[in-house]
Amino acid sequence: MGLVLRAADFSQTVLRWFAQHGRKNLPWQQAINAYRVWVSEIMLQQTQVTTVIPYFQRFMQRFPDVTSLASAPLDDVLHLWTGLGYYARARNLHRAAQIVASKFQGEFPTDLDSLQGLPGIGRSTAGAIMSIAYKQPHAILDGNVKRVLARYHAVAGWPGKTNVHQQLWEIAERYTPQQAKHSADYTQAMMDLGAMVCTRSKPKCEQCPLQANCRAHAQGEPELYPGKKPKQSLPSKHTLFMMLCNDNNEVLLEQRPQAGIWGGLWSFPEFDNKEAITTYCHKYKLTITEQESWAPMRHTFSHFHLHIQPIKLIVAAKPRNMVMASGATIWYNLAKPANKGLATPVKRLLQQLAQPIDQLEKQT
Ligand code: SF4
Repeated sequence: MGLVLRAADFSQTVLRWFAQHGRKNLPWQQAINAYRVWVSEIMLQQTQVTTVIPYFQRFMQRFPDVTSLASAPLDDVLHLWTGLGYYARARNLHRAAQIVASKFQGEFPTDLDSLQGLPGIGRSTAGAIMSIAYKQPHAILDGNVKRVLARYHAVAGWPGKTNVHQQLWEIAERYTPQQAKHSADYTQAMMDLGAMVCTRSKPKCEQCPLQANCRAHAQGEPELYPGKKPKQSLPSKHTLFMMLCNDNNEVLLEQRPQAGIWGGLWSFPEFDNKEAITTYCHKYKLTITEQESWAPMRHTFSHFHLHIQPIKLIVAAKPRNMVMASGATIWYNLAKPANKGLATPVKRLLQQLAQPIDQLEKQT
């Protein structure tokens, strides 16, 4: 293995590779502007390109610019985010758009500090907007770039640790070319190299332009980099979802509070135990004609597992004056689903609740 390349040689090598192999037809690489780069960068956090593409396209169709996003109800934004997960990203996008509309007269800020001042925009996302949309030399350090650099330099340790993080930023800054004409391509090249060649498992070192000087490759086990997050066993929480259906083919949903998990999304009313559901039914004088427990589900958040027991109740008539703790409730029509932001398990259960009707329709 040779010594690591000089900064200029490193970026030239990566740029040459990009010219030949890089991706140039992604939806956010067309009609480039700060808004499109921003939305794509936020969607790409924690999510792969192939998953993001249809979400990005639907999002741009509905919210073609920052003003349309700022003036939309949060519910519409969450609806288009359903299935992407990490909903704080969508709430931050919406809040940041409103700030751009009110404080910056609808024009995206063009300096790093103002960008970083917007909700959900960190140093790497701001760097991507600066380099791709404004063609200014700024480094990025997203998951893909971290992986390439940690392996190339064999930087040990988990990048979530401050000293490792700082070390990787220093390397990222060092290699970022200072010529404006290379900014956008270099940023995209590093992301592509991480996504297409220096992949999380089984990196394709034989196709990598950096192979001759890569320390992790020379050591023989590139997958050891970057270091893994120290393992901690996640605590478990339990909840009951009450799927209260009426004879109009509707099911009761409530909106979750803005703060906390699934903030602002629509979900089934939750209870700690079956007794609490019984008490609730007595309180609202509900005549339950059928009750069934569905198979339990598990949903994992970054900091705990949620064990969900769905319970379907059929009520004789649509009850009136139902008030849940959060206040906002709707009767969600299973045959004509409304545009609502839904958490993934809720969406799956709604699809299952709607199924018998679909099957019935197919048979007739
Ligand atoms: Fe990653 Fe292998 Fe390239 Fe090193 S040689 S940067 S490990 S793909």
